Amino acid sequence: MIHNFNAGPSILPKEVFEEASRAILNFNETGLSILEFGHRTPMFESVVSEAMDLVRELMQLDGNKEVMFLHGGASTQFFQVPMNFLSKDKTAAYLDGGVWGSKAIKEAKLFGNVEVVASSKDRNYSYIPTGYTLPDNAAYFHYTTNNTIEGTQMQGIPSSSVPLIADMSSDILSCGMDFNRFSFIYAGAQKNIGAAGVNLVVADKDFLATGNTAIPSMMDYRQHVANGSMLNTPPVFAIYVCLLTLRWLKKIGGIPAIEKINEQKADLLYSTLASLPMFNLPVPAQDRSKMNAVFTMHDPALEKLFLTRCEEEGMVGIKGHRSVGGFRVSMYNAMPLSSVVDITDLIKDFANKHA
Ligand SMILES: *Cc1c(COP(=O)(O)O)cnc(C)c1O
Repeated sequence: MIHNFNAGPSILPKEVFEEASRAILNFNETGLSILEFGHRTPMFESVVSEAMDLVRELMQLDGNKEVMFLHGGASTQFFQVPMNFLSKDKTAAYLDGGVWGSKAIKEAKLFGNVEVVASSKDRNYSYIPTGYTLPDNAAYFHYTTNNTIEGTQMQGIPSSSVPLIADMSSDILSCGMDFNRFSFIYAGAQKNIGAAGVNLVVADKDFLATGNTAIPSMMDYRQHVANGSMLNTPPVFAIYVCLLTLRWLKKIGGIPAIEKINEQKADLLYSTLASLPMFNLPVPAQDRSKMNAVFTMHDPALEKLFLTRCEEEGMVGIKGHRSVGGFRVSMYNAMPLSSVVDITDLIKDFANKHA
């Protein structure tokens, strides 16, 4: 049996894979593949509208929010956001909490002034910066809710008088929060929502109305809203996989149910690692991510042995990002508790044998 701990693209529910493969051969009993199906058909339009409705329901969005499915991955949002909401005479506030956030900062500087309100770069982004103040004249405040590479996660929403914008690529739909407090949320789909190639965007209508207009149509959120995310050919299959995953999440009880399981998985893994002196957890307890657990070993020779042992036992995708080293175990929504039980058993067994 393979346990897929990849950071992204990552594990999705088995039933989603099965249903998606059926749709490649015969979509909704039409005799056509979803891959050859027209996007401007009532049947595909209902895929998009059901997916949007499920996002509204699962995230409990108020009536002032627009839901979009856009191309380009989260990295496109790094520049599309400032292209819409920043200009040379404005300043945006950014939190520099990880590699992904620092990339967003780099792109924003192309469009206007950026004030980095706090950074954890001094210690390789191994903690969540605190104690900063936000300028109240900022066009917006941008941060990353979960730092996928470094294994840190924001707990709670910072209080802010300026519009909040969040990159939620790696923890969206994994835990409850008041999503209506955000003016703009984006997330690449390939971690918790579906297949790579599409972004989920949730935006406040009033905030959208403040956006720049002299930008290319494909970059203009308002035009995507006006066209129901069908300004051009959307990533049809990727959106369909999102719909299947959203249906699955609703069926198992939505965000409250998955949040409980995610907490169990993270508690089990972190408490096991913390109890074994052989392992090192670089992130302080209060900042640890429930989606991506990062750890190292004090002895590099043992790290090699541990990786080999994991590979032998079908534990896939646990090698840490090159900028952090060590290991990263990603436990997205679709990762069952049983897989985390299996890897913690392996960790304990390895520690016993090599203590
Ligand atoms: C994966 C990831 C990205 C990059 O996503 P792409 O779709 O590859 O552009 C950006 N931000 C975060 C937090 C991520 O986890």
